Amino acid sequence: MRELSIVVATADRDRRVRGLIPRLVSEKDAAAIELILIEYGSRVSRAVPQTRFALTTTRASTTAPVEALNEGIGLARGRICLFIDDDVLPEAGLIDEHLELHRGGPEAIVVGRRVLDPGGRDWYLREIARTHDARHEALERGDRVLGGEDWLAGSLSVPRSALVSAGGFVAEAGDFAAVELAYRLRDAGLRHVYAPRARCHETESMTPVRAVSAAERNGRGAIALSRIRPTVRAELLDFNDPPGYGIAARRGLLATNVPARSVLALADLLAPRAPTSGLASFVSSYAYWHGVRAHTTSDEWTRLTCGTSILMYHAVAPREAPARRFIVPRGKLDRQLRALRWLRRTPISLEQYISDRMAHRLPPARSVVITFDDGYLDNLELATPALTRRAVPATVFVVTGYVGGMNSWDTEGELADRPLMSWQGVAELQRSGIGVGAHTRSHRPLPSLDLETRRAELAGSKADLEHQLGVTVRAFAFPYGLGAADADCVAGVAEAGFDAACTVFPGRNTEATPLLGLRRTEVYGTDSILRFAQAVLLGDAQAVWRRRRGSLHRQT
Ligand SMILES: [Zn+2]
Repeated sequence: MRELSIVVATADRDRRVRGLIPRLVSEKDAAAIELILIEYGSRVSRAVPQTRFALTTTRASTTAPVEALNEGIGLARGRICLFIDDDVLPEAGLIDEHLELHRGGPEAIVVGRRVLDPGGRDWYLREIARTHDARHEALERGDRVLGGEDWLAGSLSVPRSALVSAGGFVAEAGDFAAVELAYRLRDAGLRHVYAPRARCHETESMTPVRAVSAAERNGRGAIALSRIRPTVRAELLDFNDPPGYGIAARRGLLATNVPARSVLALADLLAPRAPTSGLASFVSSYAYWHGVRAHTTSDEWTRLTCGTSILMYHAVAPREAPARRFIVPRGKLDRQLRALRWLRRTPISLEQYISDRMAHRLPPARSVVITFDDGYLDNLELATPALTRRAVPATVFVVTGYVGGMNSWDTEGELADRPLMSWQGVAELQRSGIGVGAHTRSHRPLPSLDLETRRAELAGSKADLEHQLGVTVRAFAFPYGLGAADADCVAGVAEAGFDAACTVFPGRNTEATPLLGLRRTEVYGTDSILRFAQAVLLGDAQAVWRRRRGSLHRQT
C-alpha cells in the first residue's frame, strides 16, 4: 500500500498548480507517494505536470470544490491523505513533516501553517501578519489549541480510513469544510495536531482589501458551520470577543450595514494617529461579523449576538409599601412586568433557558429570565399572582433548611426575620407554574465551608427539593453570589448534579457564558423604571447609570 496520497483540487490547473507541483518534494521513496489532481472548473488543461510521484489527473463530475475533494478521496490509495490548496506554494519539508506526525500514537488530523507576507509598508497587513504569527507561536508553545481558521492553513492530512468512515468533507460547510471535518473527526476520537514546519506561502500577493474579504468569508464560513455543528458556536461566534468598547461600535456600524471596506478606509485615515494593533483588530473583527450578519436573518442575528438577561429579585411588599433595596412593592413589580412588553422582551423560564443551552439551541430573541432568591412567603402571595396574570415565568431559589421558618441567617438588615414559604407553599408555587431552584440548606457562603459541609449543602438542598416536590431540580444560586468565581465551589455545584448556576456578576448571557456561571443583575426595589429598562436591555442595571445607593453585594 502507498504511504501517502496528495490530493489537490483545482479549477485552473495551468495557472495555479503549475508552480505548486515542482515544490512537492520528499526524502521518502517516491514510489510510496501518489499525486491526485482533480479539476472541477470549466477550464481544460493542456499541460502535463512533471512530478516524480505516480500521477492521476481527472476531471471531477461536479463543479463544487468540496465534492471534487471527496472524489479525490475515492481515488486515493495511500494510508494517509494530504490535501493541499491550489493557491499556495509549499516549502520543502511539508510532505515529510505531515508523514512524520502521523507516525506512532493514536490517529490524528494534522494541519500545517500558512505563512503570511510580512506586510511591507501597509499598516493593516503588517498588523494582521503580526497577529497571525503570534497566534501560531502560541500554538507551537502549547498556549492555545487549534480551532476555527487555524484549519484553513493550506495543508491538512488525515488517515484515509478515518476519512472514509467519516464520509469525507461536507459541502454545506462551504469555505469551512476543512474546519468542519476537523471538529467532526475530533468528536470521532482523532487528535488535533499542529505541524509548524509544514509551511505554505500564498501565491497571490495579499492586499488590505483581499484580507478584509477573507475575514468576511471566514464569518460566513463560521455561521454555515454553526448550522451544521451548533457546538462550535460558543467558540467561533462570541460577539463579545475581543471584549471592550469596540463591541458597541461594531454593533452600531453593523446595524447600518457599513461595508467592511469602508471601515478599512476609515481606519486608514485614523492609522497615523491611533495604535494600529487595536485598529487592525477592530477592522478584522468587523469584517468577520459583517460576513456573519450578511448570512443571518435579523431574528437569528439578535439571538446570536444579544443574549439573555437574567434578573434577580428578593422580596415583594404590599402594593404601595415603601421600596427598599431588597423589597420591591407589588405596584412597582406590576409596572416592571408591564414594561417587559413595551421593551419587546420575551420572558422565558430558567428551565427553558437551560434546556436551550444544553441542546445548543439559541434561546428566543430578546429573552429575559426572572428569578427570586431565598423563597420568601411574599413571593407566593404577592409575586406569583402578578407573574401568572401576565404569563411571565420565574424561578424561586429556596433555602431548604429554613423552609417554613424565617430569614434568621441575617441578624440585621431589611430581610432579617422575614417569613419564608412552607413546603406546602413551595408546592403551591410550583403548581402555579413557577420554577424552583436550590439556594443551599443554610445560606452560608460556599467558600467558607469545608468540603464535606459544602457537599451536604449543595446535594442536600437539591435532594430536599426533589424529595418534597417530585421533580428534578436543575438550577442553583450561590448565596451572596460567593463562590461563583471559585473553581472548587463551581466544581462542587457540578458534582451535586446541577445543570446551571446563577451568579451576581452582571451582563447578558450568551452561548459563551458558562452554564454554571450565569450572569445575573439585581433589580433593586428602589430602582426607577429607566434603570429597570437598563437591567433588562443590557443585563446590567449599573451599565450606564453607575451610582446607586448601597450597591455592595452584601446580601443576596
Ligand atoms: Zn440568598
